Amino acid sequence: MNRKDFIKVCSLLGISIPAMGLISSCTSQEKDQNSNQSSKNNTEVLIIGAGAAGLSAAYLLKKQGIGVKILEAKEDFGGRMMVDKSFTDFPLNYGAEWLSNEGWQKDELQKIADKPDAELNNKLFNDFPDQKFYKYSWYDFFKDYIINNLKNDIEYKAIVSQIDYHGEKVKATTENGTVYTAEKLIVTTPPSVLKSKKIAFLPALPKNKLDALDKLNCWGGFRAYVKLKAAIGCDWEEVAYNLHGQKIYYNASYKQDSSNHIVGVIAIGSYADAYHLNQQDLKNHILKELDAKYNNKATPNFLDLTYHNWDKDPYALGSYVSDFQPSTDFENLNNHIDNKLFFAGDSYTNGKQYGKVHIAAQSAKIAVAEILEIS
Ligand SMILES: Cc1cc2nc3c(=O)[nH]c(=O)nc-3n(C[C@H](O)[C@H](O)[C@H](O)COP(=O)(O)OP(=O)(O)OC[C@H]3O[C@@H](n4cnc5c(N)ncnc54)[C@H](O)[C@@H]3O)c2cc1C
Repeated sequence: MNRKDFIKVCSLLGISIPAMGLISSCTSQEKDQNSNQSSKNNTEVLIIGAGAAGLSAAYLLKKQGIGVKILEAKEDFGGRMMVDKSFTDFPLNYGAEWLSNEGWQKDELQKIADKPDAELNNKLFNDFPDQKFYKYSWYDFFKDYIINNLKNDIEYKAIVSQIDYHGEKVKATTENGTVYTAEKLIVTTPPSVLKSKKIAFLPALPKNKLDALDKLNCWGGFRAYVKLKAAIGCDWEEVAYNLHGQKIYYNASYKQDSSNHIVGVIAIGSYADAYHLNQQDLKNHILKELDAKYNNKATPNFLDLTYHNWDKDPYALGSYVSDFQPSTDFENLNNHIDNKLFFAGDSYTNGKQYGKVHIAAQSAKIAVAEILEIS
């Protein structure tokens, strides 16, 4: 059995793959003597982004004894699993909230955590056709099951502005001039960030990758929660779902045993545009919409508002790829380049499934398997 077959069999059986001197020479940190840029050491694989894909990739690589370093632009991990825990007595999700049944395998959470026996059912309830967390969140799941082993491997406020993969090693440079060097690098930033050219690649990304990115219709995104003195009759109201995006009002407190009445507003795609307003106008706009729908009950019951505008988040620049993107458009998105530059995340897939947390984690698993296979 050759190494490739061996890895495949290990994966099928769910067995950890031994490192076997995987990435032969440990990364040497190269201090560029001709500049005042600083460098950091002992990293075999650099990962850009501490969202579901970046954390999953780091977790799996580290389990194989491979040195990893995650460079995360924000002050916290999670990416589009961002939560607010101060607004009410259960976590409010600005991004991923449901455990989508699309592409969901049996024991998916246990698979992400690589812990077949993890007891997680008590944290879930059915919210047809998906599942939802009870007083818990995707963010909490990654905090409890993934991040513990990685605490010293994440560099926060590290905004990557350049990735140089022309030499034997890969170098990532952050906005403050720090250069990180490794054997391989996994990009997990959303495709909208790559499309914005905020990260310069040296050499430029190949044409097939750029063409694939160009084809993607990355939807905008906005999320708000309104705290109310009393229920206003909002259960689940899908106002729109079409090629332009989706808009929903829903009862976010459903089954959360909360004393608070929280109505969620989700606006995806071009439906998010209407919410690009200042705080006061935003509050008035949302209350007007809810009043129109729920017999003028929102304004007199209003207590508080919280929101996140994903379009204005410089490290997301939108929500996720359109639900109507043809799967053929995903060709070349997840291809690695020169055995050095890998891609993982909710959009770097074969296009059959995308735009979900567990899909981002699955894509990380594939990138890690490729790295192990190549080494
Ligand atoms: C409004 C909304 C609702 C959603 N609802 C659901 C849902 O109900 N269920 C579900 O499964 N999924 C949902 N999703 C999708 C889900 O959140 C994503 O699929 C998943 O979180 C993507 O993970 P990722 O790791 O691919 O990307 P991200 O989470 O975006 O991670 C990328 C990371 O890269 C970092 N980064 C970006 N640029 C740089 C840079 N230059 N330097 C360093 N770091 C950088 C970012 O800060 C981020 O942490 C929703 C998303 C949104 C926005």
